[in-house]
Amino acid sequence: MLVILHPNMNESSEEFRRTWDYLQELQDVRIQKHIVEGNEQRLTEVYLIGNTQKIARSDIESLPAVERVIRISEEYRILGRHNDDARTTGFEYQGLHFNQSSLHIFAGLCAVDIPEHVEAMMRVLQDNSLVCTRMGAYKPRTSPYSFQGHGKSCLPYVFELAGKYGIKVIAMEVTHESHVEEIDTILHKTGNPTGIMLQIGTRNTQNFELLKVLGRQKKYPILLKRGFGITLSESLNAAEYLATEGNANVVFCLRGMKTSFSAPHRNMVDFSNVPVVKRLTRMPVCIDPSHSVGTRDRAPDGLLDIFHATAQGIVSGANMVLVDFHPEPKKALVDGPQALLLPELPYFLEDIRITREAYLKRLNAFKSQNI
Ligand code: PEP
Ligand code: MN
Repeated sequence: MLVILHPNMNESSEEFRRTWDYLQELQDVRIQKHIVEGNEQRLTEVYLIGNTQKIARSDIESLPAVERVIRISEEYRILGRHNDDARTTGFEYQGLHFNQSSLHIFAGLCAVDIPEHVEAMMRVLQDNSLVCTRMGAYKPRTSPYSFQGHGKSCLPYVFELAGKYGIKVIAMEVTHESHVEEIDTILHKTGNPTGIMLQIGTRNTQNFELLKVLGRQKKYPILLKRGFGITLSESLNAAEYLATEGNANVVFCLRGMKTSFSAPHRNMVDFSNVPVVKRLTRMPVCIDPSHSVGTRDRAPDGLLDIFHATAQGIVSGANMVLVDFHPEPKKALVDGPQALLLPELPYFLEDIRITREAYLKRLNAFKSQNI
């Protein structure tokens, strides 16, 4: 059972104390408090865990600090929507709102290689009014002989260049808790010129110890990739690990499923799940067309398959796009063959603008039908 208190509840108030005391006295029930920092208000949610069947909803709703009560399922206790469309979604980070209505584009390098490429990338982002990017410093690779990423040695120039070009958030994969400490230290040393969204890759979706550690820190939001070979429910439960440890600022990323049936694409594009994740959870949903499609193949209509896949996600209401670009893909150390070229960025953004507008028109068309 979930008890939502009145917005901006003051915990030293009499109404809070009376409500809290009552909840603490409930038999066979453990209570857990969770704070949701929304755009305009701060919500206190109290989870009643245990034998809640015999508790009357009306009893709880009559407590002075309580706004409403929702019966929730066992699954996705914190991040789940539990059939309540009024629940707040998302979070704010670096002055940007990430929720189920917003849209942010994170175009950038799959892997950082040389400072010149990072700078060329960031310059073109600024020219196109983008304030987010992706930059891989810690790369989990299939072969131990492949380039593993520059690690902490590249962080100072990546962060400084981000500051120089007005980049507010960098999505950066981490595979070990020590990477978060390195990011934290170097951000501090360089004067916090940018922000980081910690990315958990598809290979680590069920690395439960990593999830718990990242969930315990609240400084950085998290981009969790769907596991490439597990069910959607298993991946959503992985997100819940982060939330239950304390960090509910999570974006969920669809990146395609591994199956030979996806050929000639690298993974089976799963962007039809955008509305599914939005219905089941309160997380903003990201799509990664680069790692889904994995090639620069082009349809006879002239558009790259990556453009088409992106459009499919956007027209269904995706909230974020994580996409590989590279100034010189032939020299890229990781995933060059799927990288978009810098001169393609304005066309990619225009395609997104067109499909986003189509999505918003679809919403209005349906609303005006009143069905
Ligand atoms: C990536 O985004 O660079 C990446 C490795 O993606 P994934 O974990 O989805 O394979
Ligand atoms: Mn990659």
